[in-house]
Amino acid sequence: MRSKIVAGNWKMNTTFQEAEDLLYEIADLMNERGKGDTTVIICPPSPFLEMASDIGVENDFFVGAQNVNDHESGAYTGEVSAAMIGSMGITHVILGHSERRTYFGETDTIIKSKVALALKHELVPIYCCGEVLAEREKSNHFEVVRNQVNEALFSLTKEDFSKIIIAYEPVWAIGTGVTATPAQAQEMHAFIRGLVADKYGETVAAETVILYGGSCNAKNAAELFSQPDVDGGLIGGASLKAEDFVTILNSFKK
Ligand code: PEP
Repeated sequence: MRSKIVAGNWKMNTTFQEAEDLLYEIADLMNERGKGDTTVIICPPSPFLEMASDIGVENDFFVGAQNVNDHESGAYTGEVSAAMIGSMGITHVILGHSERRTYFGETDTIIKSKVALALKHELVPIYCCGEVLAEREKSNHFEVVRNQVNEALFSLTKEDFSKIIIAYEPVWAIGTGVTATPAQAQEMHAFIRGLVADKYGETVAAETVILYGGSCNAKNAAELFSQPDVDGGLIGGASLKAEDFVTILNSFKK
């Protein structure tokens, strides 16, 4: 059976103290209310990864980075490598987020290199894909996602692909307060699972975790997560509020 996963993407938010307070608040609420069999991954800003990881070890959540550079090492001032993150006990990394594609010019060719480096350094990539509004309005959304997944992931071996988490994040839903309907999410998740089945076979497809991201919150998570191909969420804004985040990670039907 596929894992149920909820990951929080804090983006470029919080100071050290705010991050520590929020992590303890989330941990306390999870300990109080439980989290069932949901796997929880929190992705704070990179300077706080070590502190977050120490709290995560004691409170049963994983910690992920929000990005790594597409080179192994070298003269890339200010950048952070997969080797660095992997050597700190960090387990996951978000790759290909639409904000990185839009503001930092990341293409699927670049993201493909990042995926390879992440896997080499034993990080689980959370690979983000999704269409912009104009592409959906032209009914190109399936083609866009097909191309993204194909270019960034489908040259992986079956063994490596099996380690990947996919996050479908329609760009028009990220940070906008507009959420994909459960039917829209299900339709795209089933499409992605079908692509995986065609490429790697039904067994791998049945085990591939596909998260939904885009204005998922404490009110709409339960309905989104009840869709058969939606295995959880990648949560931005609502992951910065402990109460909301813990409600979301407890939104799976028992
Ligand atoms: C995200 O940044 O991955 C995201 C889904 O953001 P939000 O939940 O704020 O739309």
